[in-house]
Amino acid sequence: MLELLEELGIRPIEKSAEQLDLQAKDECDRRAPGVMRLFGEAVKRCSDKDRPGLEQGKREYETAYNQPDYATAVTKLDALEISAKAAKEKGDTHAKNTLAALRKRDAAKIKLHEGRLDSGDYEVFFWGKRRAAAYDKEKQEANRLEAAGDFFGAVDAYRRQATQLGLFAASLMIEWKILKDDTPNIDEAIKKNAYSAYPDLVKNFTAAKGQSAPIDKAAVEESWSDATLDAFLAYHKCVADLRQAQADKLLKLQTDGKPLKDVVNEAKTLAKRDPNVFVELAKTPQGVKLLDDMVGSLEGSAGSSESKDLCKAAIRARFGLQELKGDLTKKALPKLYDVMKLVPLSHTRDNERLSSIKRDRKSEEASFYRDSDSLVVLNLGRQGKWRGDGKTSDFDHDDDVPAEYFEGQITDLDYFNETTLHEVGHAVDAKMNFMGGRVDDPKFGGWHKHKLDEIADVAAGIGNFYASFTPAPIPALKKYLLGVLQGREKSIEASGSSDKDTLAQDPALAEAVKLRTKHAKALEKNSSEDVINKHVKSAMKKTKVKDQKQLDLLSAAAKLIFQDKKLSADDAAKQVLKDADTGLPPTTDWAQLADHDAVKWCRAIRMTGSSNGLWDKGKEGTDKAIGDRVYQQAYKDDWYSYDKKARAKGVSKYQFRAPAEWFAELYAAYYMEKLSDKHPDVSWLDGEVHALSS
Ligand SMILES: [Zn+2]
Repeated sequence: MLELLEELGIRPIEKSAEQLDLQAKDECDRRAPGVMRLFGEAVKRCSDKDRPGLEQGKREYETAYNQPDYATAVTKLDALEISAKAAKEKGDTHAKNTLAALRKRDAAKIKLHEGRLDSGDYEVFFWGKRRAAAYDKEKQEANRLEAAGDFFGAVDAYRRQATQLGLFAASLMIEWKILKDDTPNIDEAIKKNAYSAYPDLVKNFTAAKGQSAPIDKAAVEESWSDATLDAFLAYHKCVADLRQAQADKLLKLQTDGKPLKDVVNEAKTLAKRDPNVFVELAKTPQGVKLLDDMVGSLEGSAGSSESKDLCKAAIRARFGLQELKGDLTKKALPKLYDVMKLVPLSHTRDNERLSSIKRDRKSEEASFYRDSDSLVVLNLGRQGKWRGDGKTSDFDHDDDVPAEYFEGQITDLDYFNETTLHEVGHAVDAKMNFMGGRVDDPKFGGWHKHKLDEIADVAAGIGNFYASFTPAPIPALKKYLLGVLQGREKSIEASGSSDKDTLAQDPALAEAVKLRTKHAKALEKNSSEDVINKHVKSAMKKTKVKDQKQLDLLSAAAKLIFQDKKLSADDAAKQVLKDADTGLPPTTDWAQLADHDAVKWCRAIRMTGSSNGLWDKGKEGTDKAIGDRVYQQAYKDDWYSYDKKARAKGVSKYQFRAPAEWFAELYAAYYMEKLSDKHPDVSWLDGEVHALSS
């Protein structure tokens, strides 16, 4: 019967259903991506109440499609589209209302602070310009998204704008506290007749001080009004005026032709009584020059406590520091002043990313810059060791760089000065986002940050790594490469022949838990790689295990215990075995694996301690390049590559650790006048860095 119908050209009913089905499938495939996008937007915007219904609709569509029942799937898709559209519209309306409500809530604050931004009132504070820019950025973004009809995104952006708005009040409170703490200094100075020549200014100050109760209330309650802000700013100005008068008096002594010695004596008295006078002094070029002259007159030694106070006040004022602390010895103070004087004021005084300096002359650690605190820590003793634990007494210059790039001997560098300029360089880089804006640019080293995964992929390209070990599964081999890059290869080799309980019950791990409790407070403060390694080492003394691979597993577990306050020995053992399990069988020929060029490369580019790595090894870096790129681990979790050619103009080996170091080393060499005009990087240092205006 069927055959007969076919012969007659009549299509059987089943076939037409199949065709309908195909049509339905086509429709699903064509429309689903758009509907799913809509669904995604709807889910993001909808209320918690509406979400389960939407998700149910999606599941019903998928079930029908997978069954497959394409006809039902089409109707489910229709339903999902309708409900997602409705939910999205509802969400948009809700977001629009939320945006309006938030703005209404903040209206008074917005009017108040935006008025101050327009008049530039906050620029008397060091954070003024930066906060204004940050606020404006979020505001523009919220407005842009709103104009584009993305109310949902606009609410998010507005919340960030509101956070910035709140920061004005927070910053004002800090400023108020500073002013309040400062007031007794002024009172004291007035009592000592320091301001007897300026009765009007003293009168203004006393009057402003009398108005301080409402200011205090506004600051504490964050309830600023135009009136309280006016009073605060007026108070602030009275104090600045008094100091300005003192600063002018000092300057006048000099222009009147008084000997520098007399000016310095007057300044010493001032530094003791009210060091903030120097801040006013440092605001004009003549004042800066007077500070330079006065510190210069100490001839490199601030012996008396008066000279030290003078020097400290001068450093804080001229370089715009909120804080200067640590071992500020008679030699270090003028030396610090002289070296920081070498760079433009836009890099120091007018750089909000540099606000504190601490000097420690006993620390064994390397000096550093901490961006989050705008802090430079100079761990500089009198006898310097270059690069922290590099333990070399010479500057780590790369021999392969042409001598004509340098003025004189590049190795002939003052340790204290080079290090200080290097750290200031980090703060300048932070201010300009210099290296951040020049990723991959070969003119600037061609630096690129990588995920660990990408490094493993590069490694796999060496000597056909995966193909060399077929039939071992590629994911397992890749996990092995990742393990080698992280220094876990011995643990991986041991994982197949270890069981969790033996590992967990090893006395070394019990000891680790014990030590962790004992040193809990210290670990809270400092849990650096070095500190943890030290603890691991002492815990490991308790084990009886001799096999190197098992020892590696154990110490990895001990390390986890110190890294995590709560981890038990059992969980540490479990975790380590899990990390070490690549999926390669225990019968794997580990020696053959370890000997492959790809694996050797991984071993060569990873760090060898907590602060040594491929960059230390000079030319070896270029030998390990893949094509034009040198890959390496720079910090525990940071991997970079740079352009091989950059080494031919390098200043030091350390420069090739990471982009920030690349910049800081050049910066230091440039300001120590060690780069000749032939050095390829001088032109942009001149044109882009040195020329930076405030
Ligand atoms: Zn550095």
